[in-house]
Amino acid sequence: MADIERGKIVVIVAPSGTGKSSLISRLKVDFPGLVESVSHTTRPPREGEVDGTHYFFTEVESFKQMIEMGVFIEWAEVHSNYYGTSKEFIDMALKKGQSLIFDLDVQGADSFKDYFGKKANIIFIAPPSLEDLEKRLRGRATDKDEVIKRRLNNAEKEILRKNDYDYCLVNDEFESSYARLKEIVGKVLGV
Ligand code: ADP
Ligand code: 5GP
Repeated sequence: MADIERGKIVVIVAPSGTGKSSLISRLKVDFPGLVESVSHTTRPPREGEVDGTHYFFTEVESFKQMIEMGVFIEWAEVHSNYYGTSKEFIDMALKKGQSLIFDLDVQGADSFKDYFGKKANIIFIAPPSLEDLEKRLRGRATDKDEVIKRRLNNAEKEILRKNDYDYCLVNDEFESSYARLKEIVGKVLGV
């Protein structure tokens, strides 16, 4: 099998605050070969976020130039900021036969399905309820009140899409949700 076919694509989609970063961190421990794509974003870094590790933090003007230059395989405006996935990064990883995991919003997931078809394995993760989601966003204490309100408002719309992808699970109790996610990802990766 050509290396490019060997590498799998896993996409995690979830409203902000659902727990996808926490779940992805655990997946990277259990599946050390899984490479996480680092997106570009125009949102300011949160405390503790490192440029080049969590995101490539990019000025709006530079982001727009990158769109013009065709750098992104997909980009979207999410919660009033731009986010985009670099095409070069994906091409290089797939050529090496590596499997990739992406953390995208619903627009990015839709673009991936259009671009990669069945090769994109998209997993929607839902919060148990909007009340729980608000508690998690407030408990994380990384965003201002107006940002949390915008994210909750968007979450209502995103949750309507939960059955449109390849898999859907609810992140209620962390360990059992993680076990279900690990099983799905193991199946996709064939390990
Ligand atoms: P996301 O990456 O989806 O925005 P995070 O991984 O940052 O979400 O999680 C948001 C907050 O919710 C964090 O404080 C995290 O510790 C907490 N959290 C994650 N999963 C659960 C869970 N199953 N139950 C309760 N709290 C959770
Ligand atoms: P956050 O600001 O909380 O890190 O991310 C906000 C939202 O942007 C999340 O839903 C996340 O999945 C999404 N996101 C992160 N990177 C990308 C990307 O490259 N493309 C798209 N479309 N969405 C992204």
